[in-house]
Amino acid sequence: MKIANDVEVLELTMNLGQPSMIHPTLVWDENEVVLVDTGIPGQLKEIQEAMVQAGVAFERLSKVILTHQDFDHIGSLNAILKVTDYSIEVLAHKEDQPYIQGEKPFLKMSPERIKTLLETLPKERAKYFLDPITAKVDRTLNDGEVLPYCGGITVIFTPGHTPGHMSLYLKESKVLIAGDAMVADGGKLLGPREQVTPDMETARKSLEKLTHYDIETVICYHGGVVTEQVNEQIKALIK
Ligand SMILES: [Zn+2]
Repeated sequence: MKIANDVEVLELTMNLGQPSMIHPTLVWDENEVVLVDTGIPGQLKEIQEAMVQAGVAFERLSKVILTHQDFDHIGSLNAILKVTDYSIEVLAHKEDQPYIQGEKPFLKMSPERIKTLLETLPKERAKYFLDPITAKVDRTLNDGEVLPYCGGITVIFTPGHTPGHMSLYLKESKVLIAGDAMVADGGKLLGPREQVTPDMETARKSLEKLTHYDIETVICYHGGVVTEQVNEQIKALIK
C-alpha cells in the first residue's frame, strides 16, 4: 500500500496457525532504500515481490532498521543479508542489540515456544525456524537521532514492548512507523498489546513521547495503516 511518494507498506501474511497480516515499511530516496522490519522466517521471496510491486528493485536495498528483537520483525533478516552478500547495513537500538545478535536469548521466543511452533507448523514453513535468525547489528541508534536520508527519519525510543523498542518518524510525509508500540484494529489505534508487552507501564509512558510529533499516518506492524485523527487518537490512549 502506497503511503506517500516514497513510502510503501508491505502487506505480508503471517501464517502461524491463525493467519494475520504484518506490515514492514519501505522508505526510499535516490540514494538509500530502507526496509523497516523483515517479517517472519521464510519471507524473503514475499518481501522481494512486494518491493517489485512498489516499484523499487530489491538490489537497491541498502539498510534494514529493526524496530525491535521479536522474531516476527527480524525473521527474514538473515535471508536478506545472505542473498545480498551482507552488503546491507543493519540498524537497531542498543538495548535490543544483544538479543538480535544472539548474545542473549530472545525475551519472548523461548526454546519451548520454538519447539511448539516446529511441531504445529507445516514442514515447508517449519524449516525456516530451524536456522538461527540472529544477525549482526552494524549500527545502534539513539533516541532523537535523525537519520539524514529519505527526507529525515527521526528515531523515537519507545521501550516497553521490548527494552530496545523504537518507533520512527518520517519528517517529510509525517508518517509514524510505530512498530509494536501500538496495534491497530479497523482504523482505530489501540495501545500496546498486553499479552506480548512485558513492561506495560514503560510502554504507556513511551506513547506519551509520540504526542510531541505532528503525525498524519500511523503504520502499526499489526493492524496496518491508520489515518483518522491520529494525534487525537494517541492522546486519548495516554489519558
Ligand atoms: Zn510484532
